[in-house]
Amino acid sequence: MSRAFNFCAGPATLPEPVLKQAQEEMLDWRGTGMSVMEMSHRSDEFVAIAEEAERDLRELAEIPEDYAVLFMQGGASSQFSTIPLNLLGDKTSADYVNTGIWSKKAIAEARRYGDVNVVASSEDSGFTTVPDPSGWRTRPDAAYLHYTPNETIGGLEFDFVPDSGDVPLVADMSSTILSRPLDVTRYGLIYAGAQKNIGPSGLVVVILRKDLLGKARKETPTMMNYQVIADNGSMYNTPATYSWYLAGLVFKWLKAQGGLEAMAERNERKARKLYRFIDDNDFYANPIEPRFRSRMNVPFTLADEALNRAFLEGAEARGLLNLKGHRSVGGMRASLYNAMPEAGVDALIDYMAEFAKEHG
Ligand code: PMP
Repeated sequence: MSRAFNFCAGPATLPEPVLKQAQEEMLDWRGTGMSVMEMSHRSDEFVAIAEEAERDLRELAEIPEDYAVLFMQGGASSQFSTIPLNLLGDKTSADYVNTGIWSKKAIAEARRYGDVNVVASSEDSGFTTVPDPSGWRTRPDAAYLHYTPNETIGGLEFDFVPDSGDVPLVADMSSTILSRPLDVTRYGLIYAGAQKNIGPSGLVVVILRKDLLGKARKETPTMMNYQVIADNGSMYNTPATYSWYLAGLVFKWLKAQGGLEAMAERNERKARKLYRFIDDNDFYANPIEPRFRSRMNVPFTLADEALNRAFLEGAEARGLLNLKGHRSVGGMRASLYNAMPEAGVDALIDYMAEFAKEHG
């Protein structure tokens, strides 16, 4: 059996060495006679696995001591409500930037808890650009400013970190975390669903400045209260132990690859290649303003939509999987997360060239 190149936006391809190690350790984790899946989350063994994962993440992303790292559940979507419940505090409003479908979902959920001020939106352009920050109508009394650094569906990525002044900056980094170095100190809170650059789905990693703890509204469900989760080392209840373990293996793999600088370089190269090919070939198109094209998710259309099916079938026959675009935008989408090897991008480009020649 050979592994395919899986371009899925999430759950996404994982590094092969990580899967192999998980396979080797599946039945008997280091002489314990059991799988990590079967361990008590309170056992010394699992606590060591969990702590090591956090240490490695802290090292990779250079997370300072005054930030808490939480391993929570419910995916990134649960954070859409957890964030306003915890961060609104005694304030009534929060600022949001709208750059696509994931921003909109975060906004819709936050509206259930407070007054949401959409400071800027690129919806009029079909979300093909990031609104110029000089025109953002931010409010100095906002509890926080939320944005989505990479819109997974639209393929739109910020190339700058917004300046939110004294207002805590909150970022949904689900599809960009660990793809390049980041300055954690610019943020009040960072969150990311795991199933792209971290590990299996379900897990959501939250990195938050400790002074933002302890402000949860009293009706906040205990399981959504950052203070409770932090005080209990993310083990107030049974955490997603196996996902946490796999995330730890991914962090080790990232360190072995040379860390986030090395990933940034590789990701930049992969994306540049694919966009250059698309731009040089009349048969394919990508609508995003070049400066804001995502390095992680590359949507593209064919010159003739009627050929979409043939394109996908041909791709699948070559082991190039999950290239179908999100149902809301159509066309194709190639996700190029950390674990997608450069050879996968090369194989995709070869196929695209061949297909265009045959049908163009
Ligand atoms: N935010 C972004 C940017 C995403 O890409 C996704 C998932 N594709 C989500 C939030 C939702 O994540 P989950 O399915 O883990 O709730």
